[in-house]
Amino acid sequence: MQLLHVTSELHPFSKTGGLADMVAALGKALAHAGHEVHLVTPLYRGIRARYPELQPANWRFVVPLGSGSVGGEFWRLKVSPRLTIWFVDQPHFFDRAGIYNESQVDYPDNAARYLFFCKAALVLARHLPRPPQIVHVHDWPTGPLPMLLQHARASGAWPQPPKTVLTIHNLAYQGWFPATEWPLANLPAEWFHTNSAEAWGQLNFLKAGLSLADALTTVSPRYAREICTPEFGCGFEGLLLRREYELTGILNGVDYDEWNTSANPFLKHAYDAQHLAGKAANKRELQAEFGLPLRDDVPLFAKISRLTSQKGSDLLLTALEQGLAEGLEQQFVLLGSGDATLQSGFRALAARHPQSVAVKVGFDAALAQRIEAAADFFLMPSRFEPCGLNQLYSLRYGTVPIVRATGGLDDSVVDVRESAERATGIKFHEPTAAALSHALRKAHGLYREPDLLAHFRHNGMKADFSWEKQSREYVELYEQVLHGV
Ligand code: ADP
Repeated sequence: MQLLHVTSELHPFSKTGGLADMVAALGKALAHAGHEVHLVTPLYRGIRARYPELQPANWRFVVPLGSGSVGGEFWRLKVSPRLTIWFVDQPHFFDRAGIYNESQVDYPDNAARYLFFCKAALVLARHLPRPPQIVHVHDWPTGPLPMLLQHARASGAWPQPPKTVLTIHNLAYQGWFPATEWPLANLPAEWFHTNSAEAWGQLNFLKAGLSLADALTTVSPRYAREICTPEFGCGFEGLLLRREYELTGILNGVDYDEWNTSANPFLKHAYDAQHLAGKAANKRELQAEFGLPLRDDVPLFAKISRLTSQKGSDLLLTALEQGLAEGLEQQFVLLGSGDATLQSGFRALAARHPQSVAVKVGFDAALAQRIEAAADFFLMPSRFEPCGLNQLYSLRYGTVPIVRATGGLDDSVVDVRESAERATGIKFHEPTAAALSHALRKAHGLYREPDLLAHFRHNGMKADFSWEKQSREYVELYEQVLHGV
């Protein structure tokens, strides 16, 4: 099969969250399985300097954008015979300090930036020597692409375009813009309607794809069910229910070449399920790095995430404060950035409890690996979580995940109440600090029972969330989309 993935983030070139990891790893797995895979992504600032192996493709193009037109150029990286990454170079749009925003403020021309990107991806799709059979788009920045393709087909400009698949990585981010931005699509006015990109009078990028892609997927089976309900549907539950039979939940996988504990350049001490001494050594390294007391006798909890209410960061702040006030002996490290109030809340907690809490505000992929390897427990108290990747990394790293039973967290972690034999983590249900505190206490209990803790760790470390396995579900879906079964 010939496949083109269109994504606004791609690991290791650009990343704000799980989307970047998913597309990179899925693309690699599909190529490995014998498909011809092309990935296209914007050429953001700094990528060429960090990856001098990128080659100009000597391919310039111009696309209409509203009343004017904008030119760009493709760069290329041939990763393997079947995997090519294309970068869209348009310095005015993409040579910026941030991806979508700076200092938490969205770029005001995001509609133009990502419509341009969608149009550039279509130039590629149309003119690749072997055109893709499927164009697979991801999240709101690429939501308009299925609409542009449907129009190309309807107008006769492209009688037999590729089929489209849209993956929803997070329904809460939709790309809302004023209706006055619609002309940037260069489609007839009658295409701005409720079965397309119009939502409550505004332009909604994700809705264009939700309405007009040939198939929809999201990143876990449970989130696929959840988004068809008012609680998680962000206003689109009706639309999603109508398309329920075209919506598939496929759990994300892990690229174990990058996320492993035995051959990992980021880790000082290698370890595996049979030899956990290296994990204890990594814990001491991290305690030293964060200025915490070097203690084996207290559990080390960790969290790496965007600091938002989605991730339950506020619940965690309250639960940690309570536990520390009650004298629970524990350590906690946080790596993350986001909401300013949450950031200062965690910093203040660390200042009040320097022996127990350490916080690093920022984005640091290498440190994320060291934290995963060092921690005893990993906290994901999310209010909703389409898939979540860190619980999957944690399982492989022998770091017991403590998760709220929602979305992909529920699908990938086994609580002792579900199966004592297969238990890998601790789940709680209510999105409250009290429920999380209760889960933290269970973790303390588990830490005091080394054999039981070893059992959880062992189960987690042998669980298989490889992309080799998960990518087969995408291949099946592509076959269905192509052959209409
Ligand atoms: P989301 O995409 O909603 O942010 P996911 O759990 O799906 O959440 O993916 C988040 C990814 O981003 C993980 O690979 C995680 O390790 C990484 N990540 C998040 N915040 C940071 C950070 N501050 N530093 C390094 N990596 C981070």
